[in-house]
Amino acid sequence: MQGQGLLKGLGVTMKNFVRPVHTVQYPDRKVGLLGAAKRAGVSPFRFFADNPREGLKALLFIATVPERVQQAPRFRGNEFTWYEDRCTGCASCAKYCPLGIIKIVTHPGGIDVQEGESYAIDVFDIDIGRCMFCGLCVEACPYDALHMGSQFERGNYVRNDLVIDIEQLRSNLKRPSSWFRPQFEERKFDPFKGETVDDHYKAGRHEQPSPDELKERWVDGRK
Ligand code: SF4
Ligand code: SF4
Repeated sequence: MQGQGLLKGLGVTMKNFVRPVHTVQYPDRKVGLLGAAKRAGVSPFRFFADNPREGLKALLFIATVPERVQQAPRFRGNEFTWYEDRCTGCASCAKYCPLGIIKIVTHPGGIDVQEGESYAIDVFDIDIGRCMFCGLCVEACPYDALHMGSQFERGNYVRNDLVIDIEQLRSNLKRPSSWFRPQFEERKFDPFKGETVDDHYKAGRHEQPSPDELKERWVDGRK
């Protein structure tokens, strides 16, 4: 039928015209008195009585409240989470990084010499100013020592300050992303609920099995 395409196009336009808007005014949005009171969890009268200055601003629609979009647990944040006691200094992460922005300097550590000796790490720098968050370094880490982080509001005025050094990696909050870490998803771990994974034995795929698990796997399972 002639004109059918036109009606179809208009239908799509109308559908989108009445759809709710999903634009989020990040990092904060303007609110009126009702919105400000709702955010504070009190009635508008109480809000005005407790904060006359803020109440007045809200009445004039110039008050703001912080607005954050809920991130998914697999979000790849740019602060990285590093578990030093898992890291052997093998530098696989640095070799896999397609941009070559991980710098690792080590020396023979004299640790676990009988087992093959671990390196002591002198330098571990990641230039997140150039990082594209592909996560290949995390995939390459054989010991689950390196995870993507969960933070993102880390803007800076100086590019050199975007290089994360070993001290920052050590002190970063242990809130890893669950990206490429199915063990976190199995536990329903969510860094955006303020959870941390400080215990390195609970951070990796290669957890030491308990004696019961060993018995079940190697004794009971073979009967
Ligand atoms: S996420 Fe990708 S670009 Fe960033 S450091 Fe890791 S491998 Fe390199
Ligand atoms: S973070 Fe992983 S891949 Fe990188 S040096 Fe340490 S153990 Fe090796």
